[in-house]
Amino acid sequence: MKLEKQYDFIIVGSGIGGLSSAVVLAKNGYSVLVLEKNNQIGGALQVFSRDKCIFDTGVHYIGGLDKGENLYRMFKYLGIYDSLKLRSLDRDCFDLIRMPDGNSYPHGQGYESFTSQLIHLFPAEENAIYSFCKKLKEICAFFPLYNLEIGDGQTYYNNPEILSLGAWDYVNSITNNQTLRSILLGSGPLYAGDQQSTPLYVVALIMNSYIKGSYRLVDGGSQIAKLLVRELRKYNGEILKRKEVNSANYGDNNHITSVVCTDGTEYRAKNFISNMHPSLTIDIFGKEKFRPAYRDRVQKLENTTSSLMVYFSLKENSFPYYNYNIYDHFSYDCWNSINDNSENWPHTLYVCTPASSKSEEFAESLCIMCYMNLKDVEEWENTFNTTINPSERNAAYLKFKKDKEEQIIKRLETRYPDFRSCIKNVYSSTPLTYRDYIGTPEGSLYGIKKDFNNPIGTTINSKTRVPNLYLTGQNIIFHGILGATIGSFVTCFNFLNQIEIINKINDYEK
Ligand SMILES: Cc1cc2nc3c(=O)[nH]c(=O)nc-3n(C[C@H](O)[C@H](O)[C@H](O)COP(=O)(O)OP(=O)(O)OC[C@H]3O[C@@H](n4cnc5c(N)ncnc54)[C@H](O)[C@@H]3O)c2cc1C
Repeated sequence: MKLEKQYDFIIVGSGIGGLSSAVVLAKNGYSVLVLEKNNQIGGALQVFSRDKCIFDTGVHYIGGLDKGENLYRMFKYLGIYDSLKLRSLDRDCFDLIRMPDGNSYPHGQGYESFTSQLIHLFPAEENAIYSFCKKLKEICAFFPLYNLEIGDGQTYYNNPEILSLGAWDYVNSITNNQTLRSILLGSGPLYAGDQQSTPLYVVALIMNSYIKGSYRLVDGGSQIAKLLVRELRKYNGEILKRKEVNSANYGDNNHITSVVCTDGTEYRAKNFISNMHPSLTIDIFGKEKFRPAYRDRVQKLENTTSSLMVYFSLKENSFPYYNYNIYDHFSYDCWNSINDNSENWPHTLYVCTPASSKSEEFAESLCIMCYMNLKDVEEWENTFNTTINPSERNAAYLKFKKDKEEQIIKRLETRYPDFRSCIKNVYSSTPLTYRDYIGTPEGSLYGIKKDFNNPIGTTINSKTRVPNLYLTGQNIIFHGILGATIGSFVTCFNFLNQIEIINKINDYEK
């Protein structure tokens, strides 16, 4: 079959990183085709609907969205900000950290609110609280693109030692107060905080962005993906769903000429960008095409843990809508429980009442996230199930899920004694769901685990050794909607004038 069209770019995967890269390139005059394996675009932005409730699978709130902040400006440049349906979380409490004794502590939006409220609760710890916030800001200043700057001052690449600071060790060095430590790092599930590996810079980039504007997406995060596709089409970009790329053809000098999908279709381009996990990218684009040292390093990198998600649809007007997130800890050692699946599981619940356009007073649904590893469901590791390729997992799997749901309900009842009576229906997903739908190894929440003991080794470059293959998405700089969006610009700067684009983004400051 003769292939007519050769695109400037083919992007494999329609996660936020893939779609943002596609819009940036199309907006700058390139012809772009996005190939997505799923029925629904968006990767972790996908939603599903049950009992007339929309459930987010991967995005519950986003930061950096106050006017003039980094994600605000990037979304303005991408053309989507003005159409987003956003709800600002409570200014004096976007995250509530609850300790095992039931006492709760707020994270306020804006550094003034964040510090003053904690100092009020821990007056003797004033210095530690100020030091923590000062350090977050200091570290963020080393990341030029995060601040939408060109990068001619102090940067992390000139000062790589800042990547070697451990978050847990740092917080331990500024205070002996165990409760305060757990409060400062209490939103750990946002970045899968781990005492032995999580770098302070990951905590800084993420917490700083939420302190500077935390928002929920009303009626679900898939609106981001839909709006990006609208923009892509405006610039004549194309997107095809149900196109699972499974191999690539090569021409001279190790250049990729086309990709082939499982349905046998083939698409040609000059350049290819993979939004897939780097390890999967190597498998699909051909292990033998990558230098063994690179291949081994990337494929041996550890991934962040996965999670169990429990989704409740609720009876009408039975449970309040909380305009903040709750990190409910059942152990004071809040970061030590990430790999513990003992009888005390779960140690931490992330609790969210999604923002619905129907009510701001009552929640129509409740979403719970808690850590779970693929090995907890290894019995079913060889089964695969997606909307496109449905396959029933067995009764034992359903029982496993029911048992876990019951454990979660019991935990919730310790905080909300009447909770059971509010439930209409319960649904859940396991690490297998993330593995199958998004393609992250082990169903990992946030991709490759950054490690302060090996910061360079756990960093992924957007360029690969295959001359016309590039990477984008959450593994490039850091994860999350903000991180993957920044990553998409990093990828595009291989082809576009960085200074010009940053200046254009900065036109949206006001
Ligand atoms: C449970 C959970 C909760 C989260 N909560 C938040 C939050 O509240 N706030 C926040 O900012 N971030 C959150 N995140 C993180 C955030 O969602 C991710 O970091 C981000 O969406 C990842 O984007 P990405 O561009 O790397 O691509 P991904 O979303 O990983 O998408 C990759 C895409 O590639 C496609 N693909 C894979 N293989 C192929 C193939 N062979 N052919 C074609 N297509 C393929 C997949 O189908 C998918 O669409 C959460 C993540 C999870 C899992």
